[in-house]
Amino acid sequence: MSQRRIFYFDNNATTRVAPEVVAAMTPFFTEYWGNASSAYAFGNQVVKDLDLAREKVAALIGADPREIVFTSCGTEANNTALHSALVTQPGKRHVLTTAVEHSANIKYCEFLRRRGYDVTFLPVESDGSLDLHLLEKSIRPDTAIVSVMWANNETGVLFPLEEIAAICRSKGVLYHTDAVQVPGKLKVDVDELGVDFLSLSAHKLHAPKGVGLLYCRYTAPYHSYLIGGGQEKGRRGGTENVPYIVGFGRAAELALASLQDEDTRIRALRDRLEQTILTTIPDSHRNGGRDARLPNTSNLTFGGCEAEGILLLLDREGVCVSSGSACTTGSLAPSHVLTAMGLSPARAKGSVRFSLGIYNTAEEVDYLLAKLPPIIARLRGAAVDASPSTVSTTTASSLAAPVMA
Ligand SMILES: *Cc1c(COP(=O)(O)O)cnc(C)c1O
Repeated sequence: MSQRRIFYFDNNATTRVAPEVVAAMTPFFTEYWGNASSAYAFGNQVVKDLDLAREKVAALIGADPREIVFTSCGTEANNTALHSALVTQPGKRHVLTTAVEHSANIKYCEFLRRRGYDVTFLPVESDGSLDLHLLEKSIRPDTAIVSVMWANNETGVLFPLEEIAAICRSKGVLYHTDAVQVPGKLKVDVDELGVDFLSLSAHKLHAPKGVGLLYCRYTAPYHSYLIGGGQEKGRRGGTENVPYIVGFGRAAELALASLQDEDTRIRALRDRLEQTILTTIPDSHRNGGRDARLPNTSNLTFGGCEAEGILLLLDREGVCVSSGSACTTGSLAPSHVLTAMGLSPARAKGSVRFSLGIYNTAEEVDYLLAKLPPIIARLRGAAVDASPSTVSTTTASSLAAPVMA
């Protein structure tokens, strides 16, 4: 564990747990550590804290608290939505999704395919957007569910959820969205959106890793993914993770309060970072349309560079960024999101994601803007040499990269 200062620009991978969240959680480790399902007061006194947390996360997304099922993570929420739709509609064996979903969805869909289900992965345009006519045409009588994410974790590109939900409603098909990247950055209102299922993960909004939720509209059919005790009104077995759920509730309150900061200050920091890089570093390009995008994310390609090398040299300066999603970092495979947008494998591998958060400052952006250009120049010089210089050797060697989210 290093103690040196870090410059953290990887908030789409995970976020720092807010001190307010730690404070809210601590009593549930040290004092109120009983089982919420116990008959005695020492255990079940925490039920009211679970209820309060459920109200807070419901308020974050405009839901009724009874429509919230707490899960262990965003991945479980995504898996549960698809599982539910398929188990409750056994005659329907088709899933419609996109080629740019998080691996928490893509890999589950690939698993479903191996189990004999039919899955369509919709392509995207070069700016990352979806062709909604194609989406509509791809819904079949046997489509059990449409699962299309809201904000892409790699590029920040936003899909038009309300329009997609309206198409699904008109076709009478369930709609799930992976909205893990959205709360705290944009307003979320499940009724305005018109979705049936929506997934969130707490560690993307300054709460700990290991807790998430699935919003399930009243009218949506539901089937448990984890089968066990009768927790979550029989919808998800497993003893309630009280401290984490309480932390999630506190983080939901903070996320509502930080919406304005994300939309103004963080958006301005991101725009300055992106504009300065694009205008000062030759052969640098933005991935994804400029406007329909999260305010905190910038995904850029540096021609003639490998992102692994950029990450390694930035890491030496204490800067944390990501190449594509952290799940694929270290695998040296080009990002499936960027290749779906038409980038060549080489261009995709030269791409870096910068994702800002509420704790980033203008001074940190200045630091990054000072460190990056010489690193790109150095890597390009090494590439032109084509000699086994120290840089290209380290670039080729495998990175001890964290495999996170
Ligand atoms: C991080 C992330 C997930 C996975 O959430 P976990 O809680 O880490 O399982 C799913 N979808 C998106 C878009 C994400 O960014």
